[in-house]
Amino acid sequence: MMLFKIMDEENKRIKEEGREKLKEIQEKNICPTCYNMKYGGIYPSFKERIIYENDKIVCFLEQYPRNPGHTIILVKNHYEDISEIPDDIGKEVMNIIPIIIKALKRTINAEKVYLCTMCDGKRNHLHFQLIPRLKNDEIIGSKLFVKERGILVLDKEILSKIIKYINEEVRKI
Ligand SMILES: [Zn+2]
Repeated sequence: MMLFKIMDEENKRIKEEGREKLKEIQEKNICPTCYNMKYGGIYPSFKERIIYENDKIVCFLEQYPRNPGHTIILVKNHYEDISEIPDDIGKEVMNIIPIIIKALKRTINAEKVYLCTMCDGKRNHLHFQLIPRLKNDEIIGSKLFVKERGILVLDKEILSKIIKYINEEVRKI
């Protein structure tokens, strides 16, 4: 399947290792996302998976997607949740969401795309998740939000199609 593979034991082991480091940082009351942006080593590098970036936000394909095309919209500065963000960042996020959804519909035939943001962990760094639902998917509704994670298979051709579409649409704003 495009952009998605079921995790093997080695993939699961690597993911679990990351979780340990994450817990360590969280216990110290440090935001793991801010830490990772500065020093790395908590989350896998997302540089190769970026589909859009500007000075306020960065959007990339999730390394451990629940469905193909699972995308993270990360606000660069630290805000714990939506209530803290200034209007200009809110606008930025709301501008890019429909563009990414359209890109996913065109490039990987997503039928619908779900949106969520969660605020768990001692320190939460505001981010949004876009989870596509594909045609004939049996898992629908809220069950999609907890569907077992796979691993991203980075298809450069699909990635460049997504990036191209997003850049074209952003230029029109
Ligand atoms: Zn943070």
